Amino acid sequence: MRPMIPTRTLPADAASIQEAATILAAGGLVAFPTETVYGVGADALNPDAVARIFTAKGRPAEDPLIVHLAQLSDLPRVTKGYPAVVDHLAAHCWPGPLTLVLPRGPAVPYGVTAGRETVAVRIPAHPVARALIAAAGTPVAAPSANRFGHTSPTSAAHVLADLHGRIAMVLDGGPATLGVESTVLDLSGPIPTLLRPGGVSLETLRDLLGEVAVGGRAAPTGGQVAPGLLDRHYAPDNALHLCIGPDTACQAWLQQAARTQMAAGRRVGLLIPDEDVALFADLAVDIEPLGPASDPLAIAARLYAALRALDARQPDLILARDVGEAGIARAIRDRLTRAAATVHDGSEGVVF
Ligand code: AMP
Ligand code: MG
Repeated sequence: MRPMIPTRTLPADAASIQEAATILAAGGLVAFPTETVYGVGADALNPDAVARIFTAKGRPAEDPLIVHLAQLSDLPRVTKGYPAVVDHLAAHCWPGPLTLVLPRGPAVPYGVTAGRETVAVRIPAHPVARALIAAAGTPVAAPSANRFGHTSPTSAAHVLADLHGRIAMVLDGGPATLGVESTVLDLSGPIPTLLRPGGVSLETLRDLLGEVAVGGRAAPTGGQVAPGLLDRHYAPDNALHLCIGPDTACQAWLQQAARTQMAAGRRVGLLIPDEDVALFADLAVDIEPLGPASDPLAIAARLYAALRALDARQPDLILARDVGEAGIARAIRDRLTRAAATVHDGSEGVVF
């Protein structure tokens, strides 16, 4: 059996940050707050330390890590030249929730990039993250601090729920403010390509760059089962069913689905904007209100805590709807789609 590592949780003050930096420099793992979600970090230039991240998370080696820097002048330590547009993007978006995929520098182990000749890099805005990386004196590879396939952590308690006994320390810096992971933009090809929507919106990137292609995975609709490659946050017995469509169509679909499932004796959990809550007043459903539909930033901040809270109460299934795709809502849609077993557009009957 794998030996337990005693995990210490410390308030993110100057003394703990210094201690955490010492652990990183010695090849250990530390979880820390960023403005997106909590990350679990290791010295990005130490292949053994990087390997420990994959073991602690149970993350497949094919999934590359993001390298976090304290300042722009560190970029040449991890890249092999980069396009001039990086300076323009950095001036507007760094420090902040934007990750850039750039040519890999020779110092970056292939364990970080999953064998690729590109490396994903970001400068986080959270003062604790930046102080920690600066004190460690090395670039820090850090994925989200959760077990692979689980919901990303937005608090120190979430980190402990997943990684207690697997990492040396958690720096508790309070709840993550943004609540969803960074935007990933690939600059290694001829056209900048959005690989993952996040805290910096597609609209902002297009304002800054002109043409930006949308890559990665399109959201399936029409009741398709999401491909098995996607992150899944739920076991099949409490699967999430998502409606992406006009508000009124999705509200009607959710009501019909909730009634049908309850009539079949199943316990239903709902992940819905505040406005929808009254629609279910006469039903014994378990509701996690996400926040006002008009405030997707508030919904992003609550999304993962709401998913975890609902999942912990183990409904037989979860029904959810999203709030469009403008700005950060695109990231909310992406994460809900990844969590979903089935995705619907509200136009068909309930088919699961
Ligand atoms: P996480 O650290 O869990 O937020 O996930 C990092 C994600 O960034 C990966 O799952 C990839 O989608 C993306 N990523 C990291 N490195 C690269 C790379 N070299 N090329 C393309 N995508 C990358
Ligand atoms: Mg992750």
